[in-house]
Amino acid sequence: MELKTDVLVLGGGISGLAAAGRLKAAGLRTAVLEKDPQTGGLSRTARAGNFSFDLGGHRLYFSKPGVRHWTEDLLKGGRLLRPRRSSAVFTGGRMLRYPPTFLNGLLYAAPLLLQGRRRKSPAGEAATLKDWLEKRLGAGVHDRYFRDYTRKVWGLGTEQLSPVWAERRIGGGFSVRALLLELFGGDLASKENVSRFLYPEKGIGELPDALRADAGENILTGARPLELLFKEGRPAGLIYSLGGTRRQVAFKALVSTIPLSSLLALLPALPGANPAALRYRSLVVLFAALRRKKPLPYHWVYFPDADAAFSRACELANWSPLMAPDGWLPLTFEFFCDEGDSLWNISTEDLALLAFSSPAMKRLAGEFEAGELAVERLPHAYPLLYCGGDAPLAAAKTALAAFPNLFTCGRTGGHAYMDTEECLLDSWAAADKVKDFIRGS
Ligand SMILES: Cc1cc2nc3c(=O)[nH]c(=O)nc-3n(C[C@H](O)[C@H](O)[C@H](O)COP(=O)(O)OP(=O)(O)OC[C@H]3O[C@@H](n4cnc5c(N)ncnc54)[C@H](O)[C@@H]3O)c2cc1C
Repeated sequence: MELKTDVLVLGGGISGLAAAGRLKAAGLRTAVLEKDPQTGGLSRTARAGNFSFDLGGHRLYFSKPGVRHWTEDLLKGGRLLRPRRSSAVFTGGRMLRYPPTFLNGLLYAAPLLLQGRRRKSPAGEAATLKDWLEKRLGAGVHDRYFRDYTRKVWGLGTEQLSPVWAERRIGGGFSVRALLLELFGGDLASKENVSRFLYPEKGIGELPDALRADAGENILTGARPLELLFKEGRPAGLIYSLGGTRRQVAFKALVSTIPLSSLLALLPALPGANPAALRYRSLVVLFAALRRKKPLPYHWVYFPDADAAFSRACELANWSPLMAPDGWLPLTFEFFCDEGDSLWNISTEDLALLAFSSPAMKRLAGEFEAGELAVERLPHAYPLLYCGGDAPLAAAKTALAAFPNLFTCGRTGGHAYMDTEECLLDSWAAADKVKDFIRGS
């Protein structure tokens, strides 16, 4: 059976759905092909019994009022909560509010900052994440908060990672001075430290659900791309499998939001492009509902120390009361790993044991009795921005530019550390290029 469309979008996460919605609004025929049984990608809200949980806590923050208004409008059917952020770092047996209050900043962080300042910062441009962090925060803060945490999250040391991640996540202008100014000013305005965020009442999955409603009827879920077909040197069709049968879709333009390495695997070998050099970090999310003995006053807590196998825990009832019935402490634990390793393959029960036996657990939940458990696995959670990874990424993008009707966008498709707002902007920009291409062809 052959489907004909103007634009085929690969991937049904927020980027693919946002691009499809923009193209459909411009009068183009679109189809979205998603390998999973459901859309949403990394921004999905999963269910476990009477509980809902995000695949890692997702807060919405918009630096551009236009994108915020657009999103509020899109989600207008549901309630958009605006919680005041409460988060912490658990380290050395102590819970430290993060971003620090002025008082605990002085008590816990200041000695580390001063110690770090006395050590010599590396000269010149930061070549590694370690250099970047030591320059801005000092070696003491790097050693205490980032050294083991980075290894846990990324599987690599700070000396092996590119500073690009920190530039995006923490911000190029970040410094101890900037943080102190924000604290004194009483308003944590930088994107990472913003004091209030937006959150859909039924979980982040409301966002892709709303995007999907605008993305047209041709949303093919559980569909696996098998082979791209070419006409005059350009991709013009795709053979895919759906429900055990081979099907075909013909298109004028192709938008890809799937991992760049998966896209390259569908194309003939391109000079200079090496899919194996485009690496990702995977994530296993454990959901655990605990009989509440003790409330936890945080949305999320980071665990930088090596003695906790997880890097962050979220208390979902604080994000929205609709995430769990009363009387429970609903938590997610984020375990970063590589697809196929022992953590990736661990059973739900063993993962729960690993979480519950952590010394941090006592502080997190006190005495507890476990209820519902569930696990979700994300193979491409983070694009891995390692030192030396810029060149293969640039080579892949240059090679893809040989196809004028092929566009990539989003976090996973662009292999870039993007948040929701950046994905929306990037997908709309890609959709505008597709419109120009189709009108000009
Ligand atoms: C733990 C975690 C916490 C986060 N927290 C926040 C936050 O607080 N705030 C925020 O703004 N952002 C946050 N993000 C980032 C946010 O999730 C992403 O920016 C966004 O969801 C990326 O959407 P995307 O569509 O670009 O990629 P994805 O969601 O990865 O979508 C790609 C889609 O392609 C599909 N796919 C993959 N391979 C194929 C294939 N071969 N064929 C067909 N389909 C395929 C996937 O199943 C997926 O649905 C977080 C991310 C993570 C991992």
